[in-house]
Amino acid sequence: MSEDLTLGLVKSNRRVISWFSCGASSAFATYLAREKYLTHTFEAVYCRVIEEHSDNLRFLSDFEIRCDLPIKIIGDERRNYSIFDVFNARRFIKGPTGAPCTTVLKKNVRKAYEKLSDIQIFGYTKEEGNRVERFLDANSSVNADFILFDEGYTKKDCIEFIKDLNIEIPVMYKLGYNNNNCVGCVKGGMGYWNKIRVDFPDAFNKMAKLERQIGHAINKDKNGPVFLDDLNVDRGRFKTDLPSDCGFACEWVSTELLKKRTKEIRKLLLKEPANVRERTEV
Ligand code: SF4
Repeated sequence: MSEDLTLGLVKSNRRVISWFSCGASSAFATYLAREKYLTHTFEAVYCRVIEEHSDNLRFLSDFEIRCDLPIKIIGDERRNYSIFDVFNARRFIKGPTGAPCTTVLKKNVRKAYEKLSDIQIFGYTKEEGNRVERFLDANSSVNADFILFDEGYTKKDCIEFIKDLNIEIPVMYKLGYNNNNCVGCVKGGMGYWNKIRVDFPDAFNKMAKLERQIGHAINKDKNGPVFLDDLNVDRGRFKTDLPSDCGFACEWVSTELLKKRTKEIRKLLLKEPANVRERTEV
């Protein structure tokens, strides 16, 4: 423990990292976590992927100023912070086990940055119990604090928080998307890509070209792959084909493993107090 003479607080050397994604949920979680962990060494960290909308950096800057809370930007420089570098290197876009961009550009960057003793804040909301479960299953070595989930905050609460701060919400939300993923997220389905085609034709065409170059389509139906340049404009439904949030968690686990562990994890969640879930020694 060391003395912080400025605030008159006894500060802990234990680091708290709040993973800021430029989405409303992680912003609210970061704000609450800073209040909760006043006596810790607190860092808000954003992992940049260049395919995210450029308005994200405007949002980040507004948040920093409004909340007097600096945000550190990190990322995978070797991959030029780009999903296209990852896909080209892997000759693969996504499969049943997930998308390599999340693993390389988010999960691996988080792992390189974290220390075992860190407390890590993830902005999952009340609606995202399944993601909390999957995270715990896939990341037993992380001391995670799901501050929004534990306090029962919803996605709507997070958007309201941003509005109350008098900050413009990120452009992707204004356009009707449910999160701030890359512009053209490979986890989205046909209806989602048809909206991307309208809102961001360059991003759509770039992904369509990549699909042909590496011979791998994001979407498929009962007849096989459906390449973006063959996708009919009336296929899919936007609301049901939206991608899930992309985070630092990489919570994917195999369906079988998930089934086996779900009951066990649910018990753990019900038993534990709303606080840090300390890592388990293996
Ligand atoms: S938002 Fe989508 S495309 Fe971007 S890194 Fe995450 S999974 Fe990949």
